[in-house]
Amino acid sequence: MAPKEQLLALSSGIGLAGLAVANFWDYGREAIEVYKKEIIECVLKPKKETAIHHYLKFFQNIEEVDMMWKNADLDKAYDFIVRILEEVNLKPNLPEPDFESCDEEYGHYGCECNEIVEQWIAFVSENMEHIDELIKHSAFQFIFQDRKFLHDFHLELADLIEREMDYIKTNYSEYVTTKDRLRRKNFPAWLKQAVFYREKGTCAICRCDLSNLIRNQNQIHIDHIIPLNLFGTNDSSNMQLLCEACNTSKGDRTTETSSINVPFWNL
Ligand SMILES: [Zn+2]
Ligand SMILES: [Zn+2]
Repeated sequence: MAPKEQLLALSSGIGLAGLAVANFWDYGREAIEVYKKEIIECVLKPKKETAIHHYLKFFQNIEEVDMMWKNADLDKAYDFIVRILEEVNLKPNLPEPDFESCDEEYGHYGCECNEIVEQWIAFVSENMEHIDELIKHSAFQFIFQDRKFLHDFHLELADLIEREMDYIKTNYSEYVTTKDRLRRKNFPAWLKQAVFYREKGTCAICRCDLSNLIRNQNQIHIDHIIPLNLFGTNDSSNMQLLCEACNTSKGDRTTETSSINVPFWNL
């Protein structure tokens, strides 16, 4: 069966992913803190909405984007809006501004194109939730490929889990072991597939080929990059594919991964 296709806003996603990764070292801790309740709730078992999704929200500051439009030239702001709407496949039934034949070329204050662009901005605001969701989902597609970043992110998250263990025990006792760690949860099939294809069928550490073993789930190992024992979580973005030997030697006390990857040219 062919994988299910879905519209992705890749260009906008790259922008958001870049912002979120580049600012992790300065703002990562703060961003995780801001969304800690949502994040804790979504890392108890593997879900399609991950801690990374919540982290990305921190960088989707609607007001900032709004301000940017107001300061930019009106025609550039309009082009920007059109590009985003095309990417997210929204087609508003609105008139188009005619910048060419407008006399007010310096600023477009109080002219007809100003009024029209205001309508486009209002349309974007009305659909902001849908647009943000799709861009976040698209940004995740890039971040999910960066095991080294995921490792660093989940190390920071493990810190939060350790600090908030009393809160977690109080609110989600069924997800906590007697040793005050998150309880191991089963990996859904979609997650095994995702990790398998991300690692291109190879072990994330020793790169041995596991591609003929996908149907034999005993021999591929889905590993928590940051082990549960070190306050890692069941978040879908904390997983990697390992061979049996690497998984056994990694155990539950190390956070080993690799940033090795296979470029498209080498497949
Ligand atoms: Zn104008
Ligand atoms: Zn291996």
